[in-house]
Amino acid sequence: MKKNILFTSLFVAILFFFNACKEKHAYKALIVTGQNNHNWQASSPILKQLLDQTKLFTTIIIETPAKGKDMSVFNPDFAKYDVVVLDYNGDAWTEKTRVAFVDYVKNGGGVVAYHAADNAFVNWKEYNEMIGLGGWDGRTEKDGPYVYFKDGKQICDSTPGRGGSHGARHEFTVQIRNTEHPITKGLPVKWLHAEDELYSQLRGPARNMEILATAYADTAKGGTGRDEPMLSIISYGKGRIFHTTLGHCGNGDKTFPALECAGFITTFQRGTEWAASGVVTQNIPVDFPNSAGTVQWAEYKPLSLDEIVSKIEKYDVSKSRKYLYDLQNRIRYAEGNAETLLSYEKLMVKILESNEATIDAKKFVLRELSWMGSDYCIPQLKKLESSADLKDEVKFALTRIQSIK
Ligand code: ZN
Repeated sequence: MKKNILFTSLFVAILFFFNACKEKHAYKALIVTGQNNHNWQASSPILKQLLDQTKLFTTIIIETPAKGKDMSVFNPDFAKYDVVVLDYNGDAWTEKTRVAFVDYVKNGGGVVAYHAADNAFVNWKEYNEMIGLGGWDGRTEKDGPYVYFKDGKQICDSTPGRGGSHGARHEFTVQIRNTEHPITKGLPVKWLHAEDELYSQLRGPARNMEILATAYADTAKGGTGRDEPMLSIISYGKGRIFHTTLGHCGNGDKTFPALECAGFITTFQRGTEWAASGVVTQNIPVDFPNSAGTVQWAEYKPLSLDEIVSKIEKYDVSKSRKYLYDLQNRIRYAEGNAETLLSYEKLMVKILESNEATIDAKKFVLRELSWMGSDYCIPQLKKLESSADLKDEVKFALTRIQSIK
């Protein structure tokens, strides 16, 4: 008995220790915002939510003074943070603040340049070296070559001309160019991104830069006909920079599809962890988009399994199949994992038992069980054999499950 108590205490102590370690490893993130030609009032709180929900970051937002106001009061202690996320496109910072920021990065600080942050500071040499490529703000050939992919190869193109353009907003395919980098490892090589601006014709010094993902800028959508960089990494001194051109958040817009995209969210979260630490520990969500369709997360986060089940219960054929796909994806990812599959099977049996669930929901469940069900679901299926609405689907499922056995 005494021994048990000792072991229990030891176990609790170990748990405490690991939790304490976990706490200690939480990264401090700073989002800099306050001026932008975009809706920073909407985007910055969303970016903070995305980082905080990983439980890896403690994130604070600092707003600069408004456009035209005295910037000398903007002087954050960058060195206190592991990563600085720039949601900023506005007035120049003071010399003192610029020097502090450059020192922070040179000494190993992480940076994330998000969307229009690469429009900022055309005349700040070090900043342009950090972001690799930029656009607008008067950028031309004086600022560096265009960099893009053509026929699978990275091209540096010194043709004179403007820096920065995009066609009409649309859904487009993102293609991973380095499948081994911690940020992109394990992602589908091609996935469909929700409606966004496809940044093109970016130009800059592009030193110590690697493009991790591109997207084809279709001429039919006003694009360049090139594979333009979407996700890049740059090293500057000891610092790591993650540059994502994705995530347009427009002034006056009521919805922000680019920010709801599970692909944007996941790459932003992974890229920020990498910039802070050089590693990525986050799992790839099971409903990460593929080339067949976009995945948008309401409230900017994936649904829990319970939420998916309660949505499925209300399903009828006239409604979106999104939640059905969510569950199907989870089942497919769990292939070979008997314990997880059984937990899904139990949830599906609950839907069959439920008086709240629709007939369409039950038909969906029966189709899934017909190929992945085990002995566990058979008693419940037998109870439904005489159901006028479901008897055909029940018979089909029972026959398949029993023939597989
Ligand atoms: Zn934009």
